[in-house]
Amino acid sequence: MTVFDVAVIGCGPTGVTLANLLGQYGLTVLVLEREPEIYGLPRAIHFDGEVMRVFETAGLRSQVEAISRPGIKGMHFNNADGQTLLIRAGSASIGPHGCANNHYFHQPDLEGVLRQGLQRHRSVQWHTGHEVRSIEQGCDAVTLEVQPHSGQAYSVQARYVVGCDGARSLVRKVMGSLMLDLGLHQPWLVFDVRLKTEVPDLPDHTVQHCDPQRPMTYCNVTGKRRRWEIMLMPGDDPEHMVQPQTLWSLVSRWVTPAQADIERAAIYTFHSVIAQGWRRDRLMLAGDSAHQTPPFLGQGMCAGIRDAANLAWKLQAVIRGHAGEGLLDTYESERSPHVRAFIDLAVRLGDIIQTTDPQAARQRDEKFKSGGPEIFHLPAPRLGPGVWLGDCAPVAQVFPQPVLADGRLLDAALGPGFAVIGEPAVLAGVSQQTRERWQALQLLTWPATEPVLLAWLQQHGSRAVMLRPDRYIMGLAQASGDLDRLSNLLPQRSAQTV
Ligand SMILES: Cc1cc2nc3c(=O)[nH]c(=O)nc-3n(C[C@H](O)[C@H](O)[C@H](O)COP(=O)(O)OP(=O)(O)OC[C@H]3O[C@@H](n4cnc5c(N)ncnc54)[C@H](O)[C@@H]3O)c2cc1C
Repeated sequence: MTVFDVAVIGCGPTGVTLANLLGQYGLTVLVLEREPEIYGLPRAIHFDGEVMRVFETAGLRSQVEAISRPGIKGMHFNNADGQTLLIRAGSASIGPHGCANNHYFHQPDLEGVLRQGLQRHRSVQWHTGHEVRSIEQGCDAVTLEVQPHSGQAYSVQARYVVGCDGARSLVRKVMGSLMLDLGLHQPWLVFDVRLKTEVPDLPDHTVQHCDPQRPMTYCNVTGKRRRWEIMLMPGDDPEHMVQPQTLWSLVSRWVTPAQADIERAAIYTFHSVIAQGWRRDRLMLAGDSAHQTPPFLGQGMCAGIRDAANLAWKLQAVIRGHAGEGLLDTYESERSPHVRAFIDLAVRLGDIIQTTDPQAARQRDEKFKSGGPEIFHLPAPRLGPGVWLGDCAPVAQVFPQPVLADGRLLDAALGPGFAVIGEPAVLAGVSQQTRERWQALQLLTWPATEPVLLAWLQQHGSRAVMLRPDRYIMGLAQASGDLDRLSNLLPQRSAQTV
């Protein structure tokens, strides 16, 4: 029986991104997806600049740009009187990742582009309408029992299995990982429409209506698509809420049936949970199977894409025998605190948006109104403990992606592996052992002669910076000896192959 390097269970945004990244490394990958078609009910509508950079790494940036639009004005949190209390900043300019900071999209379009991307990789096989029914770990491989929609059940084996199988993950159950409850669980109605005519009064940016009578979110998705997310109040009957008459009455101040068609209406319960244990031997979790966040920051899918970027290079290093299996334990230790920072912020924003006590809402409004709208940016948390060395930021954060003098974006110039950007003298002064390690790993050395890179190093009081394949900063160096110390963290070719 063929043993795949990696089986990815679930071809949602996390699984399909991971498979694209693994395919670029030439690993043999099997993707199994239960549903025959792309899930037609969109959930995510926003992703950030770091996520666009991951799509760029996967070689799909221009295709993703073609089906998305940059978000310029950010997200406004308004009170019941329409006064803006808080703004998540937007920007018309290029952000630190070499693209816009925020992007809006229709989820089935994005998943279509990412699935098309898989066709570029001969080592990747993917099957839709194939449900994984059972999972058994052996010493050398994991055996999956798969039931296709039509046809006979069959078995397949893979060295590693990543459960990108969503909130009700089978892989998580088999691993026995429990979910830590972070406190927020609230049903919301999601109502998507397609405009038939221009409705000039509809804002072109996201608005959180923090109205204690009925909290709501309005979003301009892409093209003619608009969305309202509407909080269910005590006593609301879910069946009544999704009736067309109810839906139109809920949004009647903005749009009428003469101006738009209903695309869908569904009720979701927003959760805030994080798994305890993202890896058990050859099984791992990524995306919603590992964590779920209320969507007030538009970050649930983004977290899954970041999981994929973190895990892909580590799986490649272990499977190719460049690193021991212990490297895979840094996946949870790095990613879990990072995603937790986003969930905690989303829960705090949820407390602001979901206030239904009129007096508490008045107090909230007073607090914000005293200083005018408060502006905040998406956080850029540091990774938890793992493959990096350094006491403070920017170490363990993502390195920016400037445009170089020759017009290329930095990542295109650096390629897919580890890299060191530094003053030529510092690069030249490393030990013979470091040099050999760099050669073995095909680590790229990039003399920091470009003004933009020199300025970054100066700003951070350093003379060189070591970057991981996911472009997180592994460490800073002021001298060649610092690079020698950092290089001890690099995957070692001599590591035992698993
Ligand atoms: C209303 C709403 C709005 C949101 N807005 C945003 C937003 O703007 N931005 C953002 O970043 N996030 C947002 N999110 C969150 C985002 O939708 C999810 O985090 C994201 O879809 C998770 O992707 P995933 O691939 O991890 O899981 P899923 O999309 O759930 O995919 C899991 C896949 O696994 C398959 N599967 C499951 N079990 C098996 C099995 N046994 N065998 C084979 N296949 C299996 C399923 O069929 C499914 O296709 C929102 C969520 C909601 C509910």
